[in-house]
Amino acid sequence: MSDTILVTGGAGFIGSAVVRKLVAERGARVINVDLLTYAGNLDSLASVADDVRHVFERVDIRDGRALRRVFDEHRPRAVLHLAAESHVDRSIDGPGEFIQTNVVGTFVLLEEARRYWTTLSGAEREDFRFVHVSTDEVFGSLGATGYFTEETPYSPNSPYSASKAGSDHLARAWHHTYGLPTVVTNCSNNYGPYQFPEKLIPLMVLSALAGRPLPVYGRGENVRDWLYVDDHADALITVLERGRVGATYAIGGGNERRNLDVVKGLCALLDELRPDPAIGPREALIRHVTDRPGHDQRYAIDASRITAELGWRPRETFETGLRRTVKWYLDNPEWCERVLSGAYRMERLGERVAS
Ligand code: NAD
Repeated sequence: MSDTILVTGGAGFIGSAVVRKLVAERGARVINVDLLTYAGNLDSLASVADDVRHVFERVDIRDGRALRRVFDEHRPRAVLHLAAESHVDRSIDGPGEFIQTNVVGTFVLLEEARRYWTTLSGAEREDFRFVHVSTDEVFGSLGATGYFTEETPYSPNSPYSASKAGSDHLARAWHHTYGLPTVVTNCSNNYGPYQFPEKLIPLMVLSALAGRPLPVYGRGENVRDWLYVDDHADALITVLERGRVGATYAIGGGNERRNLDVVKGLCALLDELRPDPAIGPREALIRHVTDRPGHDQRYAIDASRITAELGWRPRETFETGLRRTVKWYLDNPEWCERVLSGAYRMERLGERVAS
């Protein structure tokens, strides 16, 4: 069997990094299953658009019949499941989509993967893997000390993290009950190129560039453990290739930063790379706004299991990764304009762009 990997959510931020890596560096054939919601953009896959090893399937993971056709037609060796609703603020405003996609969608996908897997025999059945990609937010909030590990009890606080926790439990249960060879990963906050400009880092870069105010929740003292997206993509491919069936892997960058310091760091980089006398030092644009309800104080990952067992460790420090990221956004204003307007998505669907 050729190495065919079914990636869900491959037009999103992390999924597109995984797809670009699998096709360009590993020579894998990728079946990219994505609904192209506001967060999915084929523009992020321009580098593999003409590669025969990249096959795009516009399919909703809640649609069992469509998934069945995809499994039977492409016969993947593994599934790397990233499709999700992923933005905490959106989950607070409208949790329904999060339950539908993250919980129901994962259930439907697991069922179709199981149906397909039971038709396999011999080496094909042995080699099959289902990697479920999740977040460290399922563990709740840390105080000033300590780290999340694979043994940390689940304690999700937002509709987003609760829906991801539900999907993690489904993946685990499908292994325990049916023997489906699943592996779960829980990763810290990602940043890097091609991230939709609603998340902290790209939102702040674009706002600071334009001289707009930089709203920071509360006092900006919430701590996140940042991981460069290509390092996460490497970790996921490593887990796909060598992860233990039934195991969980915590993935993190060892880069704890307060939100306020992240924003100040971005301001300093932009002042250096794109100084603008009309705007002046960008730190002056920072505004403290009412905190997000239920805002978790601190996330930090102890990634020693994946390092010890599989030899993975991040390559980028926060400083090198942040500089790369800011430069990418400076060099790719068109991508930002197009994903924000939905232009590319609409074009690809053959529809007119709504004004
Ligand atoms: P994203 O929002 O950028 O991309 C999600 C993708 O899923 C989009 O391409 C979207 O079109 C697709 N999608 C949404 N609903 C779908 C559906 N019903 N059917 C098919 N496709 C659908 O998200 P991301 O930041 O790339 O995150 C990817 C995964 O990694 C998610 O499961 C998320 O929970 C997890 N994760 C993210 C982070 C992070 O910091 N971004 C950290 C840890 C884990």
